[in-house]
Amino acid sequence: MFAFLPRVTPAPLAMLTDLALNLRWTWNHELDTLWRTIDAELWERTHNPWAVLQNVSQDRLDELSRDSAFLDELARVLESHRRYHDEPGWCRACVGEGEPATIAYFSMEFGLSEAFPLYAGGLGVLAGDYLKTASDLDAPIVGVGLLYQEGYFRQTIDAGGQQREAYPYNDPNSLPIQPVIGSDGAWVKVGLRLPGRKVYLRVWQAIVGRTHLYLLDSNDVRNGPGDRGITAKLYGGGSEMRLLQEVILGVGGWAMLGALGLKVDVCHLNEGHAALLVLARARSFMRRMGTSFWEAWWATRAGNVFTTHTPVAAGFDAFAPALVCKYAHEYLQDVGVSQRDFLGLGRLDPFDDHEPFKLAYLALRGCAQVNGVSRLHGKVSRRLFADLYPRWPIDEVPVRHVTNGVHVPSWDSAWSDRLWTEACGKQRWLGAVDALPAAVAVNDDRKLWELAAAQRRDLVQYTRQRLMWHLGQRGESAQVVAVAAQVLDPNILTLGMARRFTAYKRPNLLLSDPERLARLLCCDQRPAQLIIAGKAHPEDEEGKRLIKAWFEFSHLPQLRRRVVLLEDYDIALAQQLVQGVDVWINTPRRPWEACGTSGMKVLANGGLNLSELDGWWAEAYEPAFGWAIGEGGPSDDAADAERLYRLLEDEVLPLFYARDAQGIPREWVKRKRASMANLAPRFSSNRMLAEYLEQFYLPAIRAVRRREDNQAKLARELCAWQAALAAQWHEVHFGSVEVKRQGDQWRFDVPVYLGEIMPDGVKVELYAMPYGELPAQAIPMQSLGPITGALQGYIFSAHIPAERPAEHYTPRVRAWHADAFLPAEASQIAWQR
Ligand SMILES: *Cc1c(COP(=O)(O)O)cnc(C)c1O
Repeated sequence: MFAFLPRVTPAPLAMLTDLALNLRWTWNHELDTLWRTIDAELWERTHNPWAVLQNVSQDRLDELSRDSAFLDELARVLESHRRYHDEPGWCRACVGEGEPATIAYFSMEFGLSEAFPLYAGGLGVLAGDYLKTASDLDAPIVGVGLLYQEGYFRQTIDAGGQQREAYPYNDPNSLPIQPVIGSDGAWVKVGLRLPGRKVYLRVWQAIVGRTHLYLLDSNDVRNGPGDRGITAKLYGGGSEMRLLQEVILGVGGWAMLGALGLKVDVCHLNEGHAALLVLARARSFMRRMGTSFWEAWWATRAGNVFTTHTPVAAGFDAFAPALVCKYAHEYLQDVGVSQRDFLGLGRLDPFDDHEPFKLAYLALRGCAQVNGVSRLHGKVSRRLFADLYPRWPIDEVPVRHVTNGVHVPSWDSAWSDRLWTEACGKQRWLGAVDALPAAVAVNDDRKLWELAAAQRRDLVQYTRQRLMWHLGQRGESAQVVAVAAQVLDPNILTLGMARRFTAYKRPNLLLSDPERLARLLCCDQRPAQLIIAGKAHPEDEEGKRLIKAWFEFSHLPQLRRRVVLLEDYDIALAQQLVQGVDVWINTPRRPWEACGTSGMKVLANGGLNLSELDGWWAEAYEPAFGWAIGEGGPSDDAADAERLYRLLEDEVLPLFYARDAQGIPREWVKRKRASMANLAPRFSSNRMLAEYLEQFYLPAIRAVRRREDNQAKLARELCAWQAALAAQWHEVHFGSVEVKRQGDQWRFDVPVYLGEIMPDGVKVELYAMPYGELPAQAIPMQSLGPITGALQGYIFSAHIPAERPAEHYTPRVRAWHADAFLPAEASQIAWQR
């Protein structure tokens, strides 16, 4: 142990250090009473055991080391901690075959806890949830990220409604992390060659249950002052700083895995920021196995997975070619690749010298498997990347989807945890979730309604306290602060909304008719209240104006008790909101929300969603589960606002207040049950991780190992196969097709001329587009052998049921190899016309 504690921990309490440095406390609340007992105020203020341990007095610790009740509780918690760590979990069995595998998950942000602020928003929270799930499921995943001296900004709102930004310093000594110490007893550092110098990166680790998150920072004493600041600020600085951070994450991250002695099978890129790792990985393979660069590229690509989160091409990071070349110069000399070939990897059109270099394109080319983050986003991404697969039908562009999910134990309330535990047991989120819907659905109406009441009461309480704190900090008078104690009402419909204040999220759609909204909230018989939070990017003046509009609305005298705008949206606030609201509102402009996860966080707690049919909600929504804005086409602001008000006025409020003799709104509770049971397991990160494992990681592990075996024999073969295809493909063409009807079948015969390409290097198919209800078809054709007297000509033939007209079918020939990911790795295709 090498982490900073200002004094000695008494021997009987030594294990407290381990517990405090294991971030499992962010989701396992067994330990909460322990920390509270140590120091109640420190605990309440920070909810960070590491901060409690660092700041508690020696006297208090000495006292506790003689307190038998405390020691008993500690022993109990340690036993449960030990069991969690030692008992093999659900994934072990799945990845069991052969050598143990390691999957490295690269992300620019990790949002594990507000006490560990290395995130800006949804991307980071997803990465944090991912690591926690990997721990719960015992998946062999390690995280790779950067340690920033300043995380994302903290928000305050001044008395005029203007957002102010603060950048508190992340003191590594007070974060729950430790330096990684090597076998030689020294702090592990990674050296990275940059033009004219070597930059040293320090390696830190955070322990997340059973998994590890490794972090790099450049604040080493040996570095020059400029380089020491590279990891100063998340998304800070200009284009060059951004590129340098991405070099550190990708190239430095890969080198770090080597320095840690981890043999990595799969690299998973959470968004394109880490794309440079594919180059670093190929170079180290090339050196180790003595292959050419392109053989190494083929070998390692099978083990790379890219998850894209961007719904518009403008969202891809783009760099000037000269800037990229400055940092790639030495690398290219090392691996023997020309500047032009290299730049082509980051361009839509590799031959267009004016195109900037985009990491998303490099990631797409350098990863055999690619996915978007919801069904709709998968479709949007296939369109975004279609030009990289010319002449391919859009549905076959090799971008699949895995819809995001949330780590439920991080977002459920103590009340909901209790209810789920009674129905489904304590182990419910430690494995597959298929059996949960039926189990949780047995809860009766009264129980579900009482759950809502308890959670709403807690949220009202929390909101009042947090508001008082903000008002006090802002310097408001005692009278104003006192009013905060009376805002909201624990018994009325509570709407929640929190998001980044940016144009596409349309945070003010609900405010488009302020009078109508005010009438709705202040209705005497059926009132409602609204809690809002969100940050605008420091340079986004429009976003700040939207915050101000909500600020002013919430300060109208008649609305002061009904609308609360809370400052500083972060994980802690998100947890409280998603636990206590009755309805979560989300109004992005379709299809700009790649997935969206905040709405998933209310599911296990019984909150209902009222949301645009975008991202995850487009695939989750059914009338039995909640409410939808939009028609599933592009968004129309005016129509969406009207629909939002109408839903609230005509459906949400009446349903919530339709009470029976026992005071229970039966129809409302029915929806709660349906949404909890059907959606919470389906949009949990358990389902997400299982999909990545089965559909992406296992195929990647098998493929990358096969390619590497026998001195990379297969990788060399694939590389040669592709080179020959590329050189010869222009020769490929068809003769004229013969179609005959034979009974109720069509028989197609097609002459195909392949030049020097061997017939087993291609696949010939009959392709039909989707038509009405009929899906697209690609029917393999069989070779009947060479055409007599022709050079490299073959007849291919197929029989198909004559259900569709023969004109629907077009013969096509495409590159084929049983061991390649297609068409991702070889996209040659030729059509008969
Ligand atoms: C969940 C979460 C997000 C992401 O929410 P979206 O609905 O995907 O925008 C952002 N910030 C915080 C603090 C969160 O907890």
